[in-house]
Amino acid sequence: MENCIFCKIAAKEIPSNAVYEDEEIYCFHDLEPQAPVHVLIIPKKHFASLNEVTESAEDKELLGHLMAKVGQIADILGLENGYRLVNNCGEDGMQTVPHLHFHLLGKRKLTWPPG
Ligand code: AMP
Ligand code: ZN
Repeated sequence: MENCIFCKIAAKEIPSNAVYEDEEIYCFHDLEPQAPVHVLIIPKKHFASLNEVTESAEDKELLGHLMAKVGQIADILGLENGYRLVNNCGEDGMQTVPHLHFHLLGKRKLTWPPG
């Protein structure tokens, strides 16, 4: 998707600090970390938000793959004590970047409920 910052990050047109990458997903450090470890996990395919994910076999495979990799990414980051995986969706969800992404936060005690 043209003019999408995370599409550009996935395509290496904009630099980022990579943690994990394969053909379908990319994980990189958040620019403004809200915890000692704060990374973003994105599908390389553009979805504006979780609401654009369909029940097509392709989308289910991709999102299933992303979720199945979270534990491995948490291991890479040393999150053996636990973590939080967050998706902000739409205006009320305070989503600011319109490319589907999951925040993975850890290495501090996270409060609940989030603000
Ligand atoms: P959200 O508010 O859920 O849409 O999250 C967007 C996240 O993207 C925020 O935590 C930002 O700090 C982060 N972010 C925005 N631009 C970049 C960038 N170029 N590299 C890394 N993280 C970014
Ligand atoms: Zn995009």
